[in-house]
Amino acid sequence: MSAGGSAVARVTESFRRADEVHAGRDGLNCILWSDREASLAAARERDARASPGPLAGVPYAAKDNFATLGLPTTCGSKILEGYVSPYEGTAVARLHAAGAVLVGKTNCDEFAMGSSNEHSAWGPVKNPVDPTRVPGGSSGSSAAAVAAGIVRIALGSETGGSVRQPAAYCGIVGVKPTYGRVSRYGLVAFASSLDHVAVFGTAVDDAALALEVIAGRDPLDATSADRPVPKLRAEQGRDLKGVVIGRPKEYFPSTLDPRMVERCDRALDALRSRGATVREVSLPHTPLAIPVYYIVAPAEASSNLARFDGVRYGMRLEGEGLRGMYEATRSRGFGPEVTRRILLGTYVLSAGYYDAYYRRAMDVRALIANDFRRVFDSGVHALLTPTTPTPAFPFGAKSDPYEMYLNDIFTATGNLAGVPAMSVPIGRVDALPVGGQIIADHFDEAGMFRVAYALEAALGQEAHQ
Ligand code: GLN
Repeated sequence: MSAGGSAVARVTESFRRADEVHAGRDGLNCILWSDREASLAAARERDARASPGPLAGVPYAAKDNFATLGLPTTCGSKILEGYVSPYEGTAVARLHAAGAVLVGKTNCDEFAMGSSNEHSAWGPVKNPVDPTRVPGGSSGSSAAAVAAGIVRIALGSETGGSVRQPAAYCGIVGVKPTYGRVSRYGLVAFASSLDHVAVFGTAVDDAALALEVIAGRDPLDATSADRPVPKLRAEQGRDLKGVVIGRPKEYFPSTLDPRMVERCDRALDALRSRGATVREVSLPHTPLAIPVYYIVAPAEASSNLARFDGVRYGMRLEGEGLRGMYEATRSRGFGPEVTRRILLGTYVLSAGYYDAYYRRAMDVRALIANDFRRVFDSGVHALLTPTTPTPAFPFGAKSDPYEMYLNDIFTATGNLAGVPAMSVPIGRVDALPVGGQIIADHFDEAGMFRVAYALEAALGQEAHQ
């Protein structure tokens, strides 16, 4: 990672930049909580280490749904106002062990539910590229902190696209690894079978370095995979001879803005220029991803969020008796989108509807995963698609929740199937950044990064034009 200097100097520079771009409530609203004295103390401790580590002195930001010591962890929700975790999550602990320094917790859509970062109890977040537009969601503030130059790496979480989509909207790199590649211990659960710890970087190499540090088996998360962690940075500078890239036709529907298609085709040409061959492929169940996701995710959320009951964490509002206290706390503590998901999830799991909705959704989820398996088994190494149908939209543009849900159309498949996927900048539309999504087979992050490094190098400045 470039930019040297002591940890103290780097952290000080990060704070200077945060002030310069107005990262707080009165500005971008991307940093919710920070403790500069504590960060500087951590920086001094890093500077004093005998073996500094691969992220020595690198400032980073973490989404507000990662358990961190010292700073609040509120998930952008009133129900967790003032809550400070008594323990630290695995990804956070590994970053610290590698020498990184936490400089702030970033705003997010409440409990990571959203695609715009307009739905936080702590107010909407602005896109640093164009402050009249959303940064994307739900990890939009981590993306904003990177895009604004406050940090080079940041942690986000992904359940249906919450890192890839804001990465695309903010013109940076966002990576969702394979399900199980990174421990979820200390990431507040939204939908456990879809949740992933994910990373943002200014460039591909930043994301590779951060992912290498946090990946790998963790005894504290039974779903973390016992697989060797690949050397992602070794993929830098390789050509793409022998690499087959699939262009899935379902990700290029006739309704897609032709400028998005053009940017993706330019990216495919760039990959060809490095030796790749491109093949048209089909993932036929893609159009079912949104209905399936919006059954499975709320179902799991309704169960996971039952723990916020006014007894164990954060806020408590008194009511008549125990039930009255639960009702008062939950109905005032959760915002409208979270309430909608809990209602929807409870409904699809209820005895009379379980087979009609949840079980069917799980069956279709298996078909979506099979689509990927078939394509990768046929000799395709990676897929290239648009990350989102459009660039960042203005505040308030999607007032209908279903319209907002449709925004996840190209990303939710990756979470449903558990395959690794990442977004890299591939140009601009209407002067706004757009992303190209690279999807690879389970646990082939190395192959995915090989393509990403090559694409970044081949596009050069075109990636931002
Ligand atoms: N936009 C999706 C949702 O609202 C995905 C969110 C996420 O990935 N955390 O559920």
